[in-house]
Amino acid sequence: AELRPGVSIQREWLYRRPGGELLTIWVTISALPGEGGAPGGFVFIGRDVTAEREAERDRDRVFAYSIDMLAIVTGRGRFKRVSPAWERTLGWKPEELIGQSLWHFVHPDDREEQIARARAVLEGRDACDLRGRFRHADGSWRWVSFNASAATDDESYVVARDITDIVRAEEEMEETMEVLRANAVALEEQAAELDRLRIEAEYLANHDALTGALNRRAWFHQAAIHAPTAIAIFDIDYFKKINDTYGHPAGDVVLREVARRLEAAAGEAGVVGRIGGEEFAVFFTVPATEAKEIALRCVGEVAREPVAIGGGLELQVTVSGGFAPWQPAPEDRPLDALSVTYEAADRALYRAKEAGRHRLAAA
Ligand code: GH3
Ligand code: MG
Ligand code: MG
Repeated sequence: AELRPGVSIQREWLYRRPGGELLTIWVTISALPGEGGAPGGFVFIGRDVTAEREAERDRDRVFAYSIDMLAIVTGRGRFKRVSPAWERTLGWKPEELIGQSLWHFVHPDDREEQIARARAVLEGRDACDLRGRFRHADGSWRWVSFNASAATDDESYVVARDITDIVRAEEEMEETMEVLRANAVALEEQAAELDRLRIEAEYLANHDALTGALNRRAWFHQAAIHAPTAIAIFDIDYFKKINDTYGHPAGDVVLREVARRLEAAAGEAGVVGRIGGEEFAVFFTVPATEAKEIALRCVGEVAREPVAIGGGLELQVTVSGGFAPWQPAPEDRPLDALSVTYEAADRALYRAKEAGRHRLAAA
């Protein structure tokens, strides 16, 4: 009844298919001229838009129910359409956003970077997890992550999410990591200090505090594990007289100097230990004949020049030595080669003392 020739109507109508299924059809009907101004017929053009309408409904549902903030924005960044999530999340009603520029809500410090990235979106590159501070309707700043994708030349889809809690958690995590790192460094320093103390304690446990030579226990331990070729024992001659005449501290100076001279003479060929008060032992790791030469040199080196004991005083100091090449263990004491050799060197030392001191006697 509405239609006159030259006029057409366009609308969506529901049509039923034979099976009962409803289709949404976009219909254009135009009247053809007929007699006396009445339409002579109609042209009907129908296009099935069922799928399009369904897609739109789906999109609307996604828009309505999305927890994320969805928006369609123009090429210049103005909101065209926003989902209800914007109001739920950032407090802005749709009418407060539509037509407004997105940048207006972005923190000034973040704006420039966001605009540059948005331009890239319009050039066809998707933006993923763009982070910036967005103003909440209550005036506070919220961290928002944006994903954006160009829909047409002049339209982009924006999906945004409030990540303030995540950013805070990341910051807290970073602070925690900072503390953990500092702790790790402190622990490492502590471990290094403990290591140093352990090495120092080990040194103190194994060395004689006065002369720095191995102490008796450590020397015997080292001798037991090094398979020596020979042993020499040196005892300072008339040492008691030095103590008695010049005092105990002077005796200490002599002890230190004798130890130093013995160690210098033995060199790499032997290991010196302080076995008793003024008694030193050397175990050798070079062939026994060479060891005997070195033991002889030890006696010579101690006496080579006087020892300065302070106050301008110098003392001629000598040692006596007993030398024994490595002795096989006796049958009844298979593990006692070291003691047997040591005892042989000790007997030789006794003979050197008896024979007038300042000499080496060999077993
Ligand atoms: P000999 O020629 O027979 O070896 O006579 P000596 O006087 O050296 O022998 P003796 O074993 O009687 O003397 C050792 C002395 O060494 C006795 C002790 O007071 C002294 N002495 C032991 N340890 C130390 C020390 O650490 N410092 C000092 N100054 N004297 C010590
Ligand atoms: Mg002695
Ligand atoms: Mg002595």
